[in-house]
Amino acid sequence: MRIVLTGISASRGMVLGRARLVQPSQFVADDTPLEPGEIEAEASRLQQALETAQTELRAIRDKLHGALAREIGEFIDAHSMLLNDPELLTGLFDLVRRGRYRAGTALKMQRDRLAAVFEAMDDPYLRSRREDIDHVIGRVQSALARETSPAERQIAARVGAILVSDQIAPAEMTHLTEQGVLAAVCTGSSALSHSAILARSMRLPMVVGAHDALAEVHDDDLLLVDGDQGQIIVHPTAQDLARYRQRQREALREGRRLAELAHAPTRTRDDAPIRLFANAELAGDVAQARAHGADGIGLYRTEFLFLQRHHLPDEDEQFQAYRDLVLGMGGLPVTIRTLDLGADKADTTGLALTSEPNPALGMRGVRLSMKRPALFATQMRAILRASAYGPIRILVPMVTNSLEIRAARSLIQICARDLRTEGHEVADHFELGAMIEVPAAAIALPSLIRHVDFVAIGTNDLVQYTLAADRNNDALSELYDPLHPAVLQLLASIIRCGEKHAKPVSLCGEMASDARYTALLIALGLTDFSMHTGALLEVRDAVGRCDRGRLRRLAPRLLKAEDREQLTLLLARAAARA
Ligand code: PEP
Ligand code: MG
Repeated sequence: MRIVLTGISASRGMVLGRARLVQPSQFVADDTPLEPGEIEAEASRLQQALETAQTELRAIRDKLHGALAREIGEFIDAHSMLLNDPELLTGLFDLVRRGRYRAGTALKMQRDRLAAVFEAMDDPYLRSRREDIDHVIGRVQSALARETSPAERQIAARVGAILVSDQIAPAEMTHLTEQGVLAAVCTGSSALSHSAILARSMRLPMVVGAHDALAEVHDDDLLLVDGDQGQIIVHPTAQDLARYRQRQREALREGRRLAELAHAPTRTRDDAPIRLFANAELAGDVAQARAHGADGIGLYRTEFLFLQRHHLPDEDEQFQAYRDLVLGMGGLPVTIRTLDLGADKADTTGLALTSEPNPALGMRGVRLSMKRPALFATQMRAILRASAYGPIRILVPMVTNSLEIRAARSLIQICARDLRTEGHEVADHFELGAMIEVPAAAIALPSLIRHVDFVAIGTNDLVQYTLAADRNNDALSELYDPLHPAVLQLLASIIRCGEKHAKPVSLCGEMASDARYTALLIALGLTDFSMHTGALLEVRDAVGRCDRGRLRRLAPRLLKAEDREQLTLLLARAAARA
């Protein structure tokens, strides 16, 4: 039966595949009585599941040889006989036809009844056979759960796997494509989680917050995952598949149109230049960034280097990764963010304090680096050595005060001096920046900015900390609003402060990747965007439709808007007039 599950879009794309549940599908009994018109269909569903279970048992029996055939064959025969037991079968079909119970519930009731009979037996051997009841009924339940049609099974055999899970840790994400996973569905998680960020980097369609997925989906069910709409269709119909093919054709057309923008300059309609940088997490991002004409790397999240290796990479390993990144960008600037482990990125290295009561407010980012200066120095040395190969900017995450920046700068100076003494080549000049992702840093920026060469706004965290709404909690997705007036005030003041002090300001949170926000950010004065590589062309396209002069004049009114609706209306009017 076709079921539509809704969640939140975390990574776009539409994919057809077989469900692979990370947690075994649980038997969930549906207690609602059958309507008279449903009874015969349910009885035949049960009949089919019983036959499938028999066929599976025969197939196992046929594969057994020699002593094994004698030993295990006996049990299989006993299970086969149980499946044919007239009392069991009559009881089951009576429950469906007369009791109007659904097949799953009928199976559960028969199992409970027979188990009680066996348990009451005096003979310990016979009593122990109650286990067999569980096995046999379990086999039928599983066949019932896999109620796919033969045609569906044929399609399912040809398509890859779709992972269905409650959560996926960031460290697990990168291995999914190697295992043939085509898309991911999570009952929890959020579009701002680092797993979702990685999914976008990997171009792996993902839907999160699909609460019912583990209850409704079974292994091998055919699924159509719509990462654009945040929807999953279980047992899609022929019409769904036709729609899927149509969407594929449309995506191809749109992809071709956007591809023409790959090396076009990024300019607004009134010819103002805008710079689009790429966020990088994985090695493949560099090629994509270049292919889509990025102006450089605006954020390289080094923690994924640590998470992927499941150990702490030493100086040489890190140096090679950073050098390859810089060489790969062919002279364009590369912004390397120092380690931002902690919160939801703490799983594999054992470095961060995973047992913290409140990890998002705990020892993450630069705080962890300050606590572990040797680790920080190793990373700084690796970055500085790579700086001999091309322009590097160093970015410090989770800054809340100038002390952290000053400490980072003096450590860099010490590392650079040591490296030169050791005979390593190090760039004469490097830029040091702060991520502005904590409201304290945003508010205190006028005094903090003297200590940095540039700032990068991390809206993923800035929104979370400003609105006290956990970015990883899908139950708060309504509250987590990048368009909240408080967030917009902070963004505008950060950008103004950068302008006033002639220090570049970029925005590298997910907000920059979303073409719906491009006009708004340009209105607030942003000129440097950094985004996942999959969004570069779409955002360049959106920039081309903006009139910067007009949008800048609109900014005071946008900042006074009371809510999302007012804001959207103002922007829509501006777009219509442009
Ligand atoms: C941010 O907080 O916006 C950001 C870019 O950093 P991360 O998502 O890695 O926390
Ligand atoms: Mg952040």
